[in-house]
Amino acid sequence: MTDRPIRRPTVSVDVGGVLVGSAHPIVVQSMTNTDTADPDATAIQVARLAHAGSQLVRITVNTEQAAAAVPEMMRKLRGLGVDVPVIGDFHYNGHKLLVEYPEMARLLAKYRINPGNVGAKRHDEHFATIVRVAIENDTPVRIGVNWGSLDQQLLTELMDTNARSPEPLDARSVMIEAMLQSALRSAELAEQVGLRHDRIIISAKVSGVRDLVDVYRLLSARTDLPLHLGLTEAGMGDKGVIASTAGLALLLNEGIGDTIRVSLTPEPGAPREREVEVAQQILQSLGLRSFLPQVSACPGCGRTTSTFFQEMAQQIQGYLKDRMPEWREQYAGVEDLRVAVMGCVVNGPGESKHADIGISLPGTFEAPVAPVFVDGKLDRTLRGDRLVTEFIELLETYVDRRYGAGIPPTAEAPETVPAG
Ligand code: SF4
Repeated sequence: MTDRPIRRPTVSVDVGGVLVGSAHPIVVQSMTNTDTADPDATAIQVARLAHAGSQLVRITVNTEQAAAAVPEMMRKLRGLGVDVPVIGDFHYNGHKLLVEYPEMARLLAKYRINPGNVGAKRHDEHFATIVRVAIENDTPVRIGVNWGSLDQQLLTELMDTNARSPEPLDARSVMIEAMLQSALRSAELAEQVGLRHDRIIISAKVSGVRDLVDVYRLLSARTDLPLHLGLTEAGMGDKGVIASTAGLALLLNEGIGDTIRVSLTPEPGAPREREVEVAQQILQSLGLRSFLPQVSACPGCGRTTSTFFQEMAQQIQGYLKDRMPEWREQYAGVEDLRVAVMGCVVNGPGESKHADIGISLPGTFEAPVAPVFVDGKLDRTLRGDRLVTEFIELLETYVDRRYGAGIPPTAEAPETVPAG
């Protein structure tokens, strides 16, 4: 793993035992899409997201029924043995719900407040009410600005000022400034009410990648508060994954962002946990965190005319994922394991040597043998129908030898068998 790039010191915020900010590892979070008024469905989905690796899970608390159901949901969740901190997402009526449902307020590990949605007429009063509940419960808040619900009063004020300026900015720049000011002024107001500085996290989400990068670069230069990062309304399928990756990667690579969420619209029937897997993969691809052993596989080409190689790469990836819950408990550091499954002799041996353990399958017209490389050295050659099974056995042996006994990978050279 590379060291985390540090943009500059930020404060550290404790969210139900999960530390966000400073030099702490970037935290992965997610959000449910169940009806919070249904405690069974919500507890199950929170548990699934937590099992997938979400370190914080947010639920919407949008109605009295939802607020009333939170304690029961939390009891069920803890009954399932899941201790993940749960965050409440409040819009419009948060000031009422948090006061009228004190047990719900006590159980949540953080409140997300959208300054654009706390009421136009009594904005500051409602905002202060939420902050006072946070202070009473010693609960951090996220001031979560979203350009889809930007504080219209503030935006109008800035637009008017800009119009009177001798050198007016374009509308996009004013919108960005409004987002920054909404977040930063709200943080100031929260502190004036009495909330501690290290109880505040900020986000300012937009749905365009370029806008996201510009907003967060400016925001990070103007605050030492931890930043929650995410492309809002990222969308479905490849578009959502790619747009989120593009935006988050640019910022994370500059050291901007302390916690992330990938806001994917799930395809019908698709598991909600996908957003957690994508967030983890972004962090792992950037070398910022490790979650799952990585399989390097070549794209295949005219030298691989059967689907055997693709199927094997898929089987190995699936095997690693299935084994991780047990391996994680048993073998410290196994998430850094690198495996290669390659299609032919052109790049197969080279790439396999760079992995911890790799196999180079025979391409079309090559001899039907598959050399296996361990720690950069040829270990043996596999052939025949049990090739996948035998490679998996070697994988298990390697994991146990390297991570079980704590033997460093290069401490002993494996016996080599020439390729046949
Ligand atoms: S390793 Fe072989 S099969 Fe894979 S892309 Fe390269 S040439 Fe094609």
